[in-house]
Amino acid sequence: MPHDRSPILLWFRRDLRLSDHPALHAAAASGRPVIPVFLCDEGVEALGAAPRMRIGLGVEQLARDLKDKGSRLILRRGATHGVLRAMLAETGAGAVWWTRLHDPLSRRQDECLGPQLESVETRAFPGHLLHEPETLRTGAGGSFRSYAAFFRALRTRDMGEPLPPPSRLTAPASWPATERLEDWRLDAAMNRGGSIVASWQQPGETQARARLDRFVAERIGAYAGARDYPGRDGSSRLSENLAYGEISARTCWLAALAALHRGEAGAEQFLKELAWRDFSHHLLFHSPELATDAWRPEWRSFPWTRDTESPLVSAWRRGRTGIRLVDAAMREMYVTGRMHNRSRMIVASLLTKHMLTDWRIGLKWFEDCLTDWDPASNAVNWQWVAGSGPDASPFFRIFSPKAQAKAYDPDGDYARAWIAEWQAAPPSTALSYFEAIPRSWHMSQKDTYPAPVLDLAVARRAALAAFRARPWDQ
Ligand code: FAD
Repeated sequence: MPHDRSPILLWFRRDLRLSDHPALHAAAASGRPVIPVFLCDEGVEALGAAPRMRIGLGVEQLARDLKDKGSRLILRRGATHGVLRAMLAETGAGAVWWTRLHDPLSRRQDECLGPQLESVETRAFPGHLLHEPETLRTGAGGSFRSYAAFFRALRTRDMGEPLPPPSRLTAPASWPATERLEDWRLDAAMNRGGSIVASWQQPGETQARARLDRFVAERIGAYAGARDYPGRDGSSRLSENLAYGEISARTCWLAALAALHRGEAGAEQFLKELAWRDFSHHLLFHSPELATDAWRPEWRSFPWTRDTESPLVSAWRRGRTGIRLVDAAMREMYVTGRMHNRSRMIVASLLTKHMLTDWRIGLKWFEDCLTDWDPASNAVNWQWVAGSGPDASPFFRIFSPKAQAKAYDPDGDYARAWIAEWQAAPPSTALSYFEAIPRSWHMSQKDTYPAPVLDLAVARRAALAAFRARPWDQ
């Protein structure tokens, strides 16, 4: 419809920002009234406890930012197509625009909406990634399975300039009613830890931008070495913002590229990590089964331990394995909603290798506890550590928590920050763990810190034997 002046419903999902937002930019440029809407739909209902709480914080900030532009964020709860259809009827809107996502559930939504809302224009825009999955291809026209080749292809691609936030958004003649965010109780599943985890978050576009600027100004040059130490503030901590689209990956990429051109050598490694995020999403797009099944078929029959409540798994979840680096990491996640990247690799290796436990048990726990939970990065990284994923760590690579602690937490700062039991005067971080965990775990800082739940050397040998035997591979 060339001269359509009807309103556009701008459906926000995990793109909670105004800058560098192609769908919003196009909607503002059209001059048509824009009705921003966020839905507590099947995608939000499916989130684990911590990401569900965290997305609520992001939505709150987005609503404020839209208000500053003279606009509003309309909140509605229910199945996506039903709610949008009702809103179209209420508002007389002639279009629904949104940012495309690439995980299986979001794709089902994307694919169904066009036919379900056939009488109006539906458009999915890019913006969640650096490049859309269809646009990066190998020389033979296929999708990339190797990260190194993927990075080479992505590194030289032009990604254009970030789009400015709209200077104004045309309001509709009358605003539809909105629900109240508080009534959704998105933090309801957070147990006692909700307010503690929330206090560690930096939600919203303004804080995301400030975080990027600080990182680029102060830490990006040393990033390549510093990012490996869990007890140091060496990485950007932007994952929680990127997960909800509070800043675009392109904005981060271009800021790092500019730093690199100024001579900040560490910026190259940062670009590589941002590319891992895209790589993970591209992999999940091309192989949606990655979220639930081993990507390498030969791993599908591996006899993992699948007891979700075994004493080993329970000790792992609760940070009571008696292995300091692992326990510190699991507690860091429970209190802050994040875990350092090196720690993630170490705890995932302990669960899948020393404990021979199904990686999906760990994946699910992360999905419930991480405020930066990302369907692609979580699945690809769990499979990377377990050895069942594309370009994965080989099965014989088993992280030694002791050697890792010696190399990356040599003074024990990280362990002391998160484990109270063996300290006379534990820091507030370590103590807050006991305020956050469920009472039913019956844990107290006065408990004796446990001896290791397994003999790491014996467990390592058993894991190698199990992987090498490969009777499951016949
Ligand atoms: P930085 O080091 O500053 O990196 C910048 C950005 O690059 C990150 O914010 C992130 O968006 C991206 N990035 C960095 N490393 C990776 C990686 N290995 N894979 C994909 N993207 C990466 N990351 C998530 O965002 N969500 C998850 O649910 C998640 N689950 C993980 C599970 C396991 C078992 C492992 C080993 C890693 C997981 N990661 C996940 C990747 C990584 O640990 C985090 O992205 C990183 O720790 C975030 O900290 P940062 O923002 O300071 O990262």
